[in-house]
Amino acid sequence: MATWLQGTIIENRQWCDDLFSLKIKTDPVDFTAGQFIRVALDIDNEQVARPYSLVNTPQEPLLEIHFNTVENGILSPRLAALKEGDSIQVADRTAGFLTVNEVPDVPHLWLLATGTGIGPFLSILKTAEPWERFKKIILGYSVKTPEKLAYRTDFEALQQQHPDQFCFVPFVTREKATGTINTRMTTSIESGEFEQHAGVELSADTSHVMLCGNADMISNVKTLLEARSMRRHLRREPGHIATEKYY
Ligand SMILES: Cc1cc2nc3c(=O)[nH]c(=O)nc-3n(C[C@H](O)[C@H](O)[C@H](O)COP(=O)(O)OP(=O)(O)OC[C@H]3O[C@@H](n4cnc5c(N)ncnc54)[C@H](O)[C@@H]3O)c2cc1C
Repeated sequence: MATWLQGTIIENRQWCDDLFSLKIKTDPVDFTAGQFIRVALDIDNEQVARPYSLVNTPQEPLLEIHFNTVENGILSPRLAALKEGDSIQVADRTAGFLTVNEVPDVPHLWLLATGTGIGPFLSILKTAEPWERFKKIILGYSVKTPEKLAYRTDFEALQQQHPDQFCFVPFVTREKATGTINTRMTTSIESGEFEQHAGVELSADTSHVMLCGNADMISNVKTLLEARSMRRHLRREPGHIATEKYY
């Protein structure tokens, strides 16, 4: 059973109307980049807890979560209303297998996220391991409108640090936006446009794909990958696809 740690909000960053990141100070929590943690608030005298991926690296002192508010959701609007100095409860344990140590040795790592599903990939990309292990890392990050491309400058900085090894491909589906592809990631995979941007093939021989975000994106991309003979990765049966479904 997890023990609950008392946390304090250090920063609440609002990216746009419904998109937020919280930095939280707690006692140290051990985790692997890509994992999620449960956070909770007392609401009407009941503890309400939900899982959120960690955006910070294990070495960084503050925990960080990135989330959107769900209309009529129980916890997320209350998290969005938290201010510096407010209290929050954080489980002392993390979980999840969307981590690079679970990925078999392949040359190309594809990280595909919708919306707040980007969080665990930022944590992973801020650690040394992926840069030491993979020849090429491709990040596809899909949102509806450009202001929802949270952490964009962090990924652009990584692109500058690793110009040949990293390929950052932002997708904005509901508007035209400079420097982004304006179709769905699935459409871009099907048409070959995404691979053209990446400069490498998305194939079972060379690639491992990590998917994070909403169920529709995950299921649609999985169907496309399965048509390329890629299958779910299991420890006992190595494959090519790892997923973290938020809802
Ligand atoms: C392993 C795991 C990790 C997660 N990590 C994150 C994360 O890093 N960031 C994040 O924003 N969410 C994340 N979630 C979703 C999060 O735990 C909550 O479900 C979400 O914040 C809604 O909580 P709520 O109490 O406000 O809504 P509830 O009152 O629990 O309402 C649930 C309803 O909201 C829908 N819903 C859940 N999440 C979303 C969403 N993001 N957008 C739109 N509708 C949604 C559900 O389908 C359901 O209909 C994660 C979920 C899982 C299972």
